[in-house]
Amino acid sequence: MPKNIIIFFGPPGSGKGTQAELLARKTGLPTGQAGWKKISTGDLLRAEIAAKTTLGKNVEKYLKTGKLVPDQMTIKLMENSLKQKAAGFIFDGFPRNSRQLKALLAILESLLKKNDQVRAIEVAVSDKEVKERLGLRRMCACGAVYHLKYNPPIAEGICDICHQELFTRNDDKPKVIAHRLKVYHQDGKPLLDYWQKQGKLIKINGEQPIKKIHEEIVEKLRGLKVI
Ligand code: ADP
Ligand code: ADP
Ligand code: ZN
Repeated sequence: MPKNIIIFFGPPGSGKGTQAELLARKTGLPTGQAGWKKISTGDLLRAEIAAKTTLGKNVEKYLKTGKLVPDQMTIKLMENSLKQKAAGFIFDGFPRNSRQLKALLAILESLLKKNDQVRAIEVAVSDKEVKERLGLRRMCACGAVYHLKYNPPIAEGICDICHQELFTRNDDKPKVIAHRLKVYHQDGKPLLDYWQKQGKLIKINGEQPIKKIHEEIVEKLRGLKVI
């Protein structure tokens, strides 16, 4: 069975998490079988912070101010996540700079077989739209993402899927958002160039309804026999 890798890429607020989650649910297999696994470094870091682990305490200040946490930390999270049994992996928020990309490619070299595929999906959204979206974002610890206007939960403040209480991210504030966008444009550009040059980049217009984007992604990945 091939082990394909799908990497979501795009500015904060572009809908990477939303689409990664939808795709992971779609490609998931019944329990007992190893389905696709989603690896969201942001979710993993927030879980460490919530659990007050040593790693969590060390990274809190970076997330709060919208800076990237030191590469060795997210690279370690990525390495550990890739040890899970899975039919394939969906990355959300990793790699985010050239050094992380290099580390991932080195690992994939030993992990992947000849016919396994790696594809990057760029969810393209303007900075203006990002700012509109992030103010009304609500998150669940289970990975589900909501928006008070565009994708509200059925019951106010409660996750549709796991019924936990939703929370607002403390980095979804105008000043921190502006900094995260700057980091994205600076550090992310070489990655886009890399995927493009390799012929591995799938570009999606992220300014469409959530469902439409999901369908477009599924169609393109099916066409390429990635899923
Ligand atoms: P968004 O895509 O909305 O910026 P994420 O949940 O992906 O949100 O990331 C939130 C924060 O977590 C980032 O601003 C950064 O501090 C940290 N982070 C997540 N992924 C990485 C990564 N690959 N490298 C470094 N820092 C990361
Ligand atoms: P990212 O992981 O790229 O930071 P999210 O998936 O968390 O982005 O989405 C950011 C916010 O925008 C969330 O509140 C989400 O519900 C909302 N959102 C995601 N995709 C769309 C879309 N296509 N149209 C409108 N809102 C969206
Ligand atoms: Zn939930």
